Amino acid sequence: MNRYCFPFVLLFVFTVTSYCHAQVNTDPLAEGILKNRGELYFSFHVTSPDEVSDFSRIISIDHIDGEKVYAYANKKGFSQFLNKGNSYTILPSPGLLTPEKELAGMYRTGESDSKTIWNFYPTYQQYIDYMTGFASSHPDICNIDTLGNTVQGRLLLAVKISDNVNQQEAEPRVFYTASIHGDETAGFVLMLHLIDYLLMNYGVDPKVTNLIQSTEIFINPLANPDGTYYGGNHTVYGSVRYNANAIDLNRNYPDPRMGPHPDGEEWQPETQAFMSYGESNHFTMSANFHGGAEVFNYPWDTWSKLTADDNWWQRVGREWADTVHKYGPSGYFNDLDNGITNGHAWYEITGGRQDYMNFWDHCREVTVEISDVKILPVNQLENFWEYNHPSFLNFIEESHFGFTGFVTDSITGQPVFARVFIANHDQDSSEVFSYLPSGFYARPIYEGSYDVTFSASGYHTKTVNQIVVHNRQTTPLNVQLKPLSHGIDQGKDQTIRIYPNPGNGDFEICFPAGRDEPGRILICSAQGDVVVDDNLKMSPGDDCYKTNLHHLPEGLYIVRFISGELTLTNKFIIRYD
Ligand SMILES: [Zn+2]
Repeated sequence: MNRYCFPFVLLFVFTVTSYCHAQVNTDPLAEGILKNRGELYFSFHVTSPDEVSDFSRIISIDHIDGEKVYAYANKKGFSQFLNKGNSYTILPSPGLLTPEKELAGMYRTGESDSKTIWNFYPTYQQYIDYMTGFASSHPDICNIDTLGNTVQGRLLLAVKISDNVNQQEAEPRVFYTASIHGDETAGFVLMLHLIDYLLMNYGVDPKVTNLIQSTEIFINPLANPDGTYYGGNHTVYGSVRYNANAIDLNRNYPDPRMGPHPDGEEWQPETQAFMSYGESNHFTMSANFHGGAEVFNYPWDTWSKLTADDNWWQRVGREWADTVHKYGPSGYFNDLDNGITNGHAWYEITGGRQDYMNFWDHCREVTVEISDVKILPVNQLENFWEYNHPSFLNFIEESHFGFTGFVTDSITGQPVFARVFIANHDQDSSEVFSYLPSGFYARPIYEGSYDVTFSASGYHTKTVNQIVVHNRQTTPLNVQLKPLSHGIDQGKDQTIRIYPNPGNGDFEICFPAGRDEPGRILICSAQGDVVVDDNLKMSPGDDCYKTNLHHLPEGLYIVRFISGELTLTNKFIIRYD
């Protein structure tokens, strides 16, 4: 038996090895494309959503049409895809699909007396010039932020538009960003157009004026310039989805379900720049514009479970799509449920920016797929502006609705950083916070009645019951939090007073008066040993405690007073003269 077994095993190993080997290497077309462009666009068929989820972890799924999946892969991802053994069809790169002549020309930059016609793709340098020009020509309402640099050293820029633009005001903050996939370029020009439109209509159009006065608006038109200008700084022709390291930036973020590196890659410079920008700005709402489909894709992408605010998302998404339908031609923006979808219900992705922003930054971020054609020909750019810009404005306005207000200290009136949590509603980081320096918070939410709990370090927690919210209306809710030491000598004296000090063991130790709860006293030696541990035999209104500590040796002692959440310490010295 052994005689026959040995050669059989050898033959089997050889066959499997050569089969795998042949699979990886028998596609010179794919290899050539991967070498030239760092990424490959292809399609394949699946039979179940689970299969899609499996593939989603190794390649970038672009969109799904029935059982047909359209995807990108870099070299590593395509090699893993091949190991699964599915047949596939290589497709033309979307960045090369729109003829170059349809991407060039038509642009006319405004002289001082004429408006820019946004029917062109700027060169990289023009893009930089426009962004700096917006800020320099409207310094009262526009400034420019540099978020960081790309892998190849291009700039990641955003403008901030608001009245009193150089202050952090007590206003909702809305962030727009486009073209994180470098070959999805419509949003890039539409965002430049939006900046120009807001600046030109301030003081002219009442809605725009009001939005700028009441909101802090941040716009980053180009999140992946290395991808968009892969074909050279003069053209978007030849653009790619990935960044210059062939990483999909919209799969590179920490994922609520899969952890910090769901794609198995380091955070790219672009990812880190956006993470720190989000962290420092505390956006209320944001939208990330893509291409390749036409749909409002709301969270989550990673989980099948719904967000706490699913009804709010559906309403805001429906209004976005309905408004687009009103201004756009029939057949535009009607993918999935007539232009809206839950992300995971469409297809699962991990490491997307949307889920990151929702989960870690407590921001309501949506992914908006704005054009079936990824690189929109220039003669379509103004049309797409007409279809979409009313929704851009409405979404900014939406940040004011729900309940909103200030959290302050009830004694001093100073703003307080507090958590704004709705019991039996908030989950998975859907709560918001009141941020300093103003103590302002904004909580977009679907209409209803809510019990809202405000909590902050050093303060008594406070719940406000039955706050009634109506859709598209603002319910003001200002809250004062009582410091834990409330009533203690007007909050000024939060110390333990000890008389006399030094003393011979007969001390009067006085604690802040007006406590809500009885207190406990601990006296420790300088070495940290507890020498007295006594529950105070006095009601909360009493404030002094007489000791007899003659049995203790001379030295330094520490007294600690604990009452509810309040802990105070002081020192005294025993000296026998
Ligand atoms: Zn995309």
